[in-house]
Amino acid sequence: GVPEVPARPLAPRRQSRQIQVGPVAVGGGAPVSVQSMTTTRTSDVGATLQQIAELTASGCQIVRVACPTQDDADALAVIARKSQIPVIADIHFQPKYVFAAIEAGCAAVRVNPGNIKKFDDQVKEIAQAAKDHGTPIRIGVNAGSLDKRLLRKYGKATPEALVESALWEASLFEEHDFRDIKISVKHNDPVVMIEAYRRLAEQCDYPLHLGVTEAGPAFQGTIKSAVAFGALLAEGIGDTIRVSLSAPPVEEVKVGIQILESLNLRRRGLEIVSCPSCGRAQVDVYRLADEVTAGLDGLDVPLRVAVMGCVVNGPGEAREADLGVASGNGKGQIFVKGEVVRTVPESKIVETLIEEAQRLAEQMK
Ligand code: SF4
Repeated sequence: GVPEVPARPLAPRRQSRQIQVGPVAVGGGAPVSVQSMTTTRTSDVGATLQQIAELTASGCQIVRVACPTQDDADALAVIARKSQIPVIADIHFQPKYVFAAIEAGCAAVRVNPGNIKKFDDQVKEIAQAAKDHGTPIRIGVNAGSLDKRLLRKYGKATPEALVESALWEASLFEEHDFRDIKISVKHNDPVVMIEAYRRLAEQCDYPLHLGVTEAGPAFQGTIKSAVAFGALLAEGIGDTIRVSLSAPPVEEVKVGIQILESLNLRRRGLEIVSCPSCGRAQVDVYRLADEVTAGLDGLDVPLRVAVMGCVVNGPGEAREADLGVASGNGKGQIFVKGEVVRTVPESKIVETLIEEAQRLAEQMK
């Protein structure tokens, strides 16, 4: 389900105007939502809906689908109708697909001002169609496809250039009294991206969709996204996020959720507090942490489980957590809610923790 609004975010959220992406409120104090994008051919309706179902199950709240061909445009209506989460059509180059996506009942349409120039002559008609259907538009600027005019003016995709592109496109819509807009200004460099979003946040009140574009393979992309989103979200900037990884989209969603949980912008789920181990460790902490993590996978409850290697920080952390183990001398003291409930041999630590976690989870239902 949709997470509750956090009690104590790090900084007050930026006051943005609120839009509705289908049933999901974006901006205006709504919880930050997690997005991803399908990798299937959109025209393959079955495969696309299957992937959307997997994304939904992993916690994805809004999904974007590419629409490069007429066959893809033709598939949008069924996908939008059958998807469990709102579908955004991603349109580049071809204004006619913007109309098709609106007609198809997509929850929003993303346009890229850098490559949809023909579109500018049709903004009036698009604004009208979007208004008629209550469809918001995401103005999605991307460093790799920056408007040629701005590329000449700035020499490269600077934060100023990204912001100017987005606000210029927004102004075309504003001329037709259309403000049902969300903006993104993605760059692959977190430093440039952070600066672009900071400037954008100051210059408009539209909700912002955060992304480090082409962030890379899973490890690098996770870190780049976490650092960039973390910096911005801690300042209250950002209304939706998409982690872009060269990895299956479900992985993007897991990372996105973890970023929001880390900042208390979303209710924390299962959390493993495990020590890095050191020369004092009296058990194999890596193995314990891996086995406990694997054993508790899918347990969707806010539970803090401490896995600690020795008696230095072990009892303290284990006591603070809902559940924990402090190890020493081939044994593990199992703590539940701050009390030692059992002492078990090392070989029984994992199964005992899993058992106790399941018991606690049952009580939380
Ligand atoms: Fe080292 Fe013990 Fe701290 Fe783990 S809890 S890092 S084993 S001192």
